[in-house]
Amino acid sequence: MRWIYRCPECGAEYAIEPGRYLCDRCSSHNAPGMPLGGVLECAWVEGEPEPGTVPLPIDRRWLAPIPVGDTPLWAPTRLRAELGFRNLWLKDDTCEPSGSYKDRASHLVAGFAREHGIGEIALASTGNAASSMACIGAAAGIKITVFVPKTAPIAKRIQVLQYGAELREVDGTYDRAFDESLDYSAKTGVLSRNTAYNPLTIEGKKTAAFEVVRDLRRATGSAGAAPDHIFVPTGDGVIIAGVIRGFEDLVRMGELARMPTVWAAQADGSSAIARALETGSWEFRPSCTVADSIAVEAPRNGYYALAKLRRHGGRAVVVTDDEILSAQRLGSSRAGLFAEPSSACALAGFVKARSMIGADETVVVMLTGSGLKDVRSAAQAVGAPY
Ligand SMILES: *Cc1c(COP(=O)(O)O)cnc(C)c1O
Repeated sequence: MRWIYRCPECGAEYAIEPGRYLCDRCSSHNAPGMPLGGVLECAWVEGEPEPGTVPLPIDRRWLAPIPVGDTPLWAPTRLRAELGFRNLWLKDDTCEPSGSYKDRASHLVAGFAREHGIGEIALASTGNAASSMACIGAAAGIKITVFVPKTAPIAKRIQVLQYGAELREVDGTYDRAFDESLDYSAKTGVLSRNTAYNPLTIEGKKTAAFEVVRDLRRATGSAGAAPDHIFVPTGDGVIIAGVIRGFEDLVRMGELARMPTVWAAQADGSSAIARALETGSWEFRPSCTVADSIAVEAPRNGYYALAKLRRHGGRAVVVTDDEILSAQRLGSSRAGLFAEPSSACALAGFVKARSMIGADETVVVMLTGSGLKDVRSAAQAVGAPY
């Protein structure tokens, strides 16, 4: 298969090669602290993927030897009974190597680096992308430099150090870390894994859509089984865009008859995408939520994610921190699934939106990060004095 980057805004095409991130034309008005214009999309232009495989823009032999993806899709029986949804499923990425969904993107970016003989990757992160890239970089033998707000949960920063990456703590928000890391990459020429900025971060995150469809069919014994609704915790909007990309590919490949309804679950202290979906205009406010992984002021992938949601009838649901923390407890105590607050946001979103969904419909909730990554918020949720 031959792959290119394509700009979904103007249609310009680019080779997939080191140094290429955004569309030249559509990124020309980008400003710090704004969503990125000119985010590129991977597309195959020659050849067809083999049925049953995930089409990816790099050869699998470059992927680092660490088991990313293929996470469980499982049936939370007690939660199903309590919520009254017989076809509720959890897609459980808490058991990725570094404990979050970010490993899917890091795996692809590290594979690209290996393919091109690149020895260092830099990125900004609220914590999970950093610990993820550090983890995959350790398996791949690539130097990793991360820019993380010094307020990031301690477990995520310790992970970075354990994996042997260089931790640069930023005195400011994630938005500031983003800009500092881009300066670093621009000065040094080091490959950037900044989310949305590097198109492979979106493409790497599509793999879960393929797994969900495959595993639903296996679990139900029905070749046509497909999710009706999928709840995705959303901050910068890269996971949700990646998941939509995956379903688009499945439709293009004839493996799925129609797109599911994709729900962006956001915290009310960080809900720019949900507000833009409703009002059609962007408004950026300082973020304030217990769910640190989805706390962003300006969602970097905002334009692209919004266009994808619009095209496919995507929806949004906004929840409070209290709703997030009680959904965190609900998942832990009724399903045995202890997820970090940002993931619990997806479950809280489903709990809140479920009156709009038929009790027989097939619903998938994406649990994107382990609860052990942020024990302070979890302690708050159980009223523990730690
Ligand atoms: C990054 C992250 C998200 C949100 O992904 P975006 O691409 O920023 O929307 C959700 N949950 C967890 C655990 C994350 O680390």
